[in-house]
Amino acid sequence: MSEPEIRHDAVADRWVIIAPHRAKRPKGDSKGQCPFCPGNEHMTPPAWLVYSRVNGELVKLADKESERVSDWIIRCFPNMFPALRSDLPFEERPGESLFFATTSYSGFGFHYVIVESPIHDAHPHNNSIKGLELVVEAYFDVMTRLSYEKSIKYVCLFRNYGPEAGASIYHPHSQVIALPVVPSAVRREIEVARRYNRERGGCLYCDLVELEVGSPRLVYADEHYVAVAPWASLSPYEVWMIPRRHEPNFINTHPKERRALARALKAVLYALKKVANDPPYNFGFHVAPARWRGESYHWHIEIHPRMAVAGGFELMSGMYINSVPPEKAADELRTAIEKAGF
Ligand SMILES: [Zn+2]
Ligand SMILES: [Zn+2]
Ligand SMILES: [Zn+2]
Repeated sequence: MSEPEIRHDAVADRWVIIAPHRAKRPKGDSKGQCPFCPGNEHMTPPAWLVYSRVNGELVKLADKESERVSDWIIRCFPNMFPALRSDLPFEERPGESLFFATTSYSGFGFHYVIVESPIHDAHPHNNSIKGLELVVEAYFDVMTRLSYEKSIKYVCLFRNYGPEAGASIYHPHSQVIALPVVPSAVRREIEVARRYNRERGGCLYCDLVELEVGSPRLVYADEHYVAVAPWASLSPYEVWMIPRRHEPNFINTHPKERRALARALKAVLYALKKVANDPPYNFGFHVAPARWRGESYHWHIEIHPRMAVAGGFELMSGMYINSVPPEKAADELRTAIEKAGF
C-alpha cells in the first residue's frame, strides 16, 4: 500500500490518515538550501497562487510548470509529500476490519503549503502588519477555494512553529489540508454549540466573548477580536482568538475583519514569544464544514504552545495537566501586549 487512505476508527470514533509515503519526508533544512527561499522556487511544485506586486499594486498570479514567478510575496503550492492526494478518486470503501460497517475512504484530499514571506525568518512576531495582512488574505483565498472543491467537507488550516511543533522547515509557512470528512474535534465543538443553542438560546462563543472580556483571562481585545486564555487551557499559554461578530466560517469575513486579524495575531504571537521564551506552537482555524448551512457555530483560532510533551496520562485519559494557570498566562500576555503598545 503506498496510497494514503482515510480510516474511521469505530472504537474511538475518530478519523486517521494512513499515509505510508509521508515516511520519506526530508527532515530539516540545515544541511542544504531552504526550499522556500527566493531563488529556490524550482525545489517546490508550481504554485497555483502567487501574490506579487506590479507597480506597487498587489497582483495574484500562478506559476507555470516550467516557469516560476520570481518576484513573489506569498506562494501557495501542493505539499511535496501530501497527506492526501487530489489526483486520487474520492471513493468510499467497505470496512475491512471489525464488526461495524467501519468506513474508509480513498486518500483523496488537498494538502497545500502557504509560504508567508520571501524573508527566511519573517514569522508572525517578526513580520510587519502589512505583511501579515497579506498572509491572512492568502489564508482566505486558499480556504475559500478549497471549500468549494467537490467532495471536500472540511478545510483545516494550521501553522507549525518549531521542530517540536512539527515544523520540518524553518522558513515561515502554514499548511492547509482539505478533507472529505469532518474531523471529530470540530464535529464535537459543533455538537456542543448546537446543544447550547437548543437549551439556552444564542451562541456559546458569543456568550463566552461577553463573559471573558471582563475576566482575568482576557489577553487582547479590539473592535473585532477578543483573545482569551481559555478557562480550562490544555497547555501553558494556550490562547483562543474569537471574532466578536457571530459567523460560522472565516471565509465569510469582511476585508476589515481580516486586516484586524493580522494585528491581533501579531500582538498575541509577539507576546507569546516575549513571555514564554519563543516556544514552539501550533495554531489553526476552527471553522464550520464546507457548504454547511447551520448557524450555531462560531469560527475561531486556537493557539497551542508546545511547551510540555504530552505523556502517557494525556494519551490514555484525554486529560491534560497544565502547570500554568490561564489567569497567570493571560496576565503576562496582556501586560506584554500593553507594553509593546499594540
Ligand atoms: Zn528560507
Ligand atoms: Zn457566536
Ligand atoms: Zn475550537
